[in-house]
Parts: sequence; C-alpha cells; structure tokens
Amino acid sequence: MFDAVIVGAGFAGIGAAIQLKRSGIENFVILDREDDLGGTWYVNHYPGLAVDVPTTTYSYFFEPNPNWSRLFSTGREIKQYADDVADKYDVRRHIRFSTVVEGARWDEDAKLWQVTVNGGEVLSARYLITATGFLSQPKIPDIPGIDNFAGRVIHTTDWDDDYDPAGQRIAVIGTGATAVQLIPELAKTAADLTVYQRTPIWVVPKIDLRFGPRAKKLFARVPATQRVLRWLTDSIYEWMVTIGVVRYRTFRGRGNISAADLSKLHRFVTVRDKELRRRLTPDYDFGCKRPTFSNGYYRTFTRANVHLQDIGIDHVQSDGIVGTDGTKNVIDTLVLATGFDLWEANFPAIEIIGRDGRNLGKWWRENRFQAYQGVSIPYFPNLLSLASPYAFLGLNFFNTMEYQMRLMDRLFREVQARGATTFEVTEEANTRYLDRMTELLGNSLFTLGNCASARSYYYDPAGEPTLLRPTTTETAIREASEFPLSDYAIN
Ligand code: NAP
Repeated sequence: MFDAVIVGAGFAGIGAAIQLKRSGIENFVILDREDDLGGTWYVNHYPGLAVDVPTTTYSYFFEPNPNWSRLFSTGREIKQYADDVADKYDVRRHIRFSTVVEGARWDEDAKLWQVTVNGGEVLSARYLITATGFLSQPKIPDIPGIDNFAGRVIHTTDWDDDYDPAGQRIAVIGTGATAVQLIPELAKTAADLTVYQRTPIWVVPKIDLRFGPRAKKLFARVPATQRVLRWLTDSIYEWMVTIGVVRYRTFRGRGNISAADLSKLHRFVTVRDKELRRRLTPDYDFGCKRPTFSNGYYRTFTRANVHLQDIGIDHVQSDGIVGTDGTKNVIDTLVLATGFDLWEANFPAIEIIGRDGRNLGKWWRENRFQAYQGVSIPYFPNLLSLASPYAFLGLNFFNTMEYQMRLMDRLFREVQARGATTFEVTEEANTRYLDRMTELLGNSLFTLGNCASARSYYYDPAGEPTLLRPTTTETAIREASEFPLSDYAIN
C-alpha cells in the first residue's frame, strides 16, 4: 500500500512529488504511460519547439535555473530542466514508467483509493493525485478519407526526429501555437508547403534574448538578479492576463485592442500582400484563444514555396487533399498540427469513481464542470485533481503549480496535525467557490468579448469558459495558503 499515487510525471506530477516529500511523505509512486519523465516536454519534440512564456517565469518558483540559454528556451532545455529538478529532489526513483492507469475507485470501507493499471494490477493508496495535464491526448481530425492517405502522416506529438522535410510536398493542418512554431521550420527546406487554416490565430512578435556566459554566471553567483528578471517577466505576463482576460470589464478591452493592433502592425510590416494579410486576420478578440509569439510565422507565408489554404478541406485521397472548391493538392506528407482533445479526454483523464459510486466525468457533465480551488470535488475524498476546471491561471502553468503546491502544504499539514486519514471538500464550500468563479467569469473576456468564432478550448462542451481560474496569481496563492480549513471535512 502507498501513502499516495500520483498519475503523471510531467511538471505537475514532479511538483506534487516534491510537495509530498516536504510533507514528510516518501511512500508514494508516480505512474506515467510514457517511458521518460517531463510530460508534454518529453512527448513534444517537433522542429521549432520552444516555450512561449519566458523561462524565467516558466519554472518552479523554488527552483530558478541559471542555465537557460535564452529568454524563450527550447523544448530540449525545458526537458533537461525537468530531468534536473526530478534528480535534485530524488523524484525519479518513485516513477513507474510505461504504466497506463485505467481507473481509480474510492474504497469507503478501507478509506483507500484502488488504482487499476494496465494488466489489471491494483495499487492501493491513501491519497490520489492526478497530474495528467490539459494537453495530453492528441486530436486526430475526423476528415473524410484521412485514413486512406498513403503517404506519411505525422501528428506533432508523435514527431519522427529522422523525418527530413527537404524536398517534400507537405500539408500542415492547423494554425495553433504548435503550427506557428513548426511551419517556419518546415518551410525552410520543403519543396512545397500548404497550410490548411480553419481559424486564423493572433500572432505578436517574440522579443527573445540570448543569455551568454556572463549572464549565466551572474544568475548563478547572484541569484537575486534572476529573481528580479523573473519578477519582471512574471509581472508582464500577469498584467497581460489580468487586463486582457480576467478584468476585461474594468479595462473595457483596451489591452486586447492594443495587442491586436500590435499583431496588425506585425502583419503589415511582414506581409505586403493586402489580401493575404486579410486572410491571416482573426475575426475574434485577441485572447479568446491562446495568442502566440513568433517573428517568423507571418513572413513564412510570403515565401514562394508556402501557400495558405483557407477554403476548407473536403476530403483526403491516397495522394493528396481535395479542398471544398474541388481543387486537389498532391502531397507526400500530412502533418497534423491539430492540437489536443481537451475536454473529452482530460476531464478526467482516467475514470475516477468516488464515494457512493459517483463517477467524476459523468458528474461534471451532468452538473457543470467544477472543482473547489481547482483541485477538490465533493464525494472524492483524498483526491487532488490538479488538471481540473477552474485550475489553470492563464498563460503560465507554473503559477498554477505554485498555488496547488501551497494548497497541498496547508491541507496535508492539517491532516497530519489532526492525525486524520481523510479529507473531503464540503458541498457548501464547493458551491460557494463555483458561484464566485461564475460571477468572476462574468467580468472576463470569455463572457464579454467577441469569442464566438474562436473555437477556443477555454470553453467546456457546455459552452462555459471553465478552464480558466479567473483570479490573479496573487489571489490564487493567497487563497491556497489561507483557505478556511472548515472548507474540508477532515476526519
Ligand atoms: P490548438 O491550439 O488546439 O490548434 C489546433 C489547430 O488545428 C487549430 O488551428 C484548429 O483549428 C486546427 N484543427 C483541429 N481540427 C481541425 C480540423 N478537423 N480541420 C481543420 N483544422 C483543424 O493546438 P496546438 O497548436 O497544438 O496548441 C495547443 C496548446 O498547446 C496551445 O494553446 C498552447 O497552450 C500549448 N502550446 C504551447 C507551446 C509553447 O509554450 N511553446 C507550443 C505549442 C503549444 P480551429 O482553431 O479552427 O479549431
């Protein structure tokens, strides 16, 4: 029997493991379906992959890294950071790789979670922490004929590092954050690259910096210098989310209009063809779906070997794609930059059955998506579901991690102080939190802005924007550190 089972060995799972250790809990196992740690930063390694939040900010608050080579570090460096942190905190020895979790069921008599893994083995644990992320199940588009394509099909989460795009006729479906990074890289050598755009994306310039040996030495010798830089990048990103999304009503969308103007200027400077610029221009408000940062994306469409196709795909044939206008594009490779199946596959990522047989996925769908402080749900004792509705603080996942770790700290401290075996959020506290989140979302871009055509994954299947926790990071951290302990039944 374990004290805890953590599902997922990405940054959330590693953070949860570190927090358990800080609470004196060492008897835990982390289960991950992959054969290495790092979650999304292990799975994704397509060309051009880099973080789109400054890495000074995109890192654990307690573990600054003086070795970043640049402000927006590459995917490889971030994976290395995950390895380094896991090793430093001795997390790796707790991980069981290549282990698919099939489901978890609360055993009320034993007051334990029974976690079933592939092969039917059942692991018992006092606590269950699901750290399964939001972007973990690749979305394969349901386009007629796609299975008949005889050439190569690559989803961006399954990139083949040996694949050489040189001289290839390539189609990329999708224009999200992944495509914005990948397309300029493929365009460099592809014979012909057609980008199938269904919804244009807002792109603003990326102001990147290299950290040379002197800067790295300074960060290592005087950690306060990196802290100051982090404070600056934290503040900029926080303000972007606060002004543009959370307090949209207060700022009357001015931040969004300014950002959209910057993107417009960026298009104007890089794309001289007016019609092409128009086709690349979104018709929804900046921020409705995650905007992206790139200096090369728009310019790529001015290359002779790159074509934008935005009239839609009718079907795929064995050797190419037929558009809705009947024209056929013969290709060698079909790249699916089609993102992730967010809500259906991740809420929750495994079947979770709580007290009285309550099925979490079913209950969320029948009763609105909800979770107290983005982690706890009534009837699910001793469960911390880190990838829940109202959990994500916007652009930077590590802020989410920070408040969740602080909440774990407060909760486990109390459970241990009382010598208790279970905790469960009360229905009253959960309802109060849900009502507050609903009210706050009423002031946000997602409620007041023009988001109808964005096809944004911030909205759940019922059309409510419940992915985001509509508070500042400061508020989330304060609440996680000070929430009334009476919000949980601790026995
Ligand atoms: P995404 O933002 O969901 O984009 C998927 C794209 O595929 C969209 O353009 C979508 O069009 C298109 N698509 C999906 N199904 C389609 C279909 N049947 N026909 C035509 N087009 C279809 O996914 P993503 O680009 O992988 O990014 C997901 C998230 O990952 C980002 O928002 C970001 O949070 C994160 N990310 C972060 C980084 C980073 O930090 N460096 C990099 C990459 C990704 P519609 O918009 O019309 O649905």
